[in-house]
Amino acid sequence: MIQTDVAIIGAGPAGLFAAFECGMLKLGSVLIDALDEAGGQCVALYPEKPIFDIPAHPAIEAGALIAALERQIAPFSPGRLLGRRVESLSGEAGKFLLTTDKGDEVAARAVIIAAGAGAFGPNRPPLAGLEAFEASGAVQYYVRRREDFRGRTVVIAGGGDSAVDWALQLKDIAATLYVVHRRPKFRAAPESAAQLDAASACGDIKMVIPYQLHALHGADGVLEGVEVADLEGRTKILAADRLLPFFGLAMDLGPIATWGLALERHHVQVAPATCETSVPGIFAIGDIATYPGKLKLILQGFSEAAMAAHAIHPIARPGEALHFEYSTTKGVPA
Ligand SMILES: Cc1cc2nc3c(=O)[nH]c(=O)nc-3n(C[C@H](O)[C@H](O)[C@H](O)COP(=O)(O)OP(=O)(O)OC[C@H]3O[C@@H](n4cnc5c(N)ncnc54)[C@H](O)[C@@H]3O)c2cc1C
Repeated sequence: MIQTDVAIIGAGPAGLFAAFECGMLKLGSVLIDALDEAGGQCVALYPEKPIFDIPAHPAIEAGALIAALERQIAPFSPGRLLGRRVESLSGEAGKFLLTTDKGDEVAARAVIIAAGAGAFGPNRPPLAGLEAFEASGAVQYYVRRREDFRGRTVVIAGGGDSAVDWALQLKDIAATLYVVHRRPKFRAAPESAAQLDAASACGDIKMVIPYQLHALHGADGVLEGVEVADLEGRTKILAADRLLPFFGLAMDLGPIATWGLALERHHVQVAPATCETSVPGIFAIGDIATYPGKLKLILQGFSEAAMAAHAIHPIARPGEALHFEYSTTKGVPA
């Protein structure tokens, strides 16, 4: 049994910064994440993409942001349970009990749910034999390293921001790049869609429209071709060794939906001033939290982490006065 002041479910940017804010208030914390690595969407989905709206960072790659957060929370050494999904949450403010799918038990005075989209995963195309190509890396849903695609013949499928952004980023790295979409109009940001048109006009990207994925060709995980079909069912095969389907993320709150919290369209409702949920002592921050005016931005998750930590202090340290102090006054442990 692990004892802590605050159990933080989710080690994405919001959860990591919550460990910092708890530490500044002398509250211990344990970060629990279903993934083997901290960083949430930033590390799992787009580590090499620059983010432009983190205050004081004109541009910072998502992976570098997480590395910086790790350095920032290091003085407080929060506990970590990675590769563990929190399954159950019971108890009341001051004494909660969490259990994970690996059998861990965590006793905490308060809980911060920073679980993002919940247990997120890609929407996978319904193609026969897909698993073998996923296992070999021939079919991937995230670009962890652009360099992995150098000299490859790549098919990108989808019409949203991810499909268009990655097409633009990989066009100079891949030997040949196809973009398969079922209609001429893309849902991506207008400037990106315009860049895609320009890249297609000069032959850097080959557009395959209106087509959708139909079948994969190859054996033993070695991809040799991606078969596509138009709306009348006419098919053709694109010789390719990599497929990147970008059909969005499937969001699933998983066990969190069963914990008796007030929910609103797959998000946890919170009081905007404190981020407390409908259950006293349980807080939610970051992408999973909703309230009027909520923006799903990393910077908003950071601010919510600070509000939740301050609201938790009287629960974790009843009777102890909390004097608001700047970090410049308090400093951090050596
Ligand atoms: C391609 C892309 C580009 C983006 N660009 C920007 C941008 O430019 N600026 C910006 O501000 N935002 C951007 N975002 C959004 C940003 O990444 C999210 O707002 C942010 O990651 C949310 O952080 P979070 O900590 O709330 O959740 P997440 O990063 O989603 O982390 C949640 C973590 O909780 C874990 N978890 C869930 N359920 C459980 C459970 N039951 N037990 C244990 N662990 C659990 C998950 O495994 C995950 O690691 C972008 C997102 C994407 C996909």
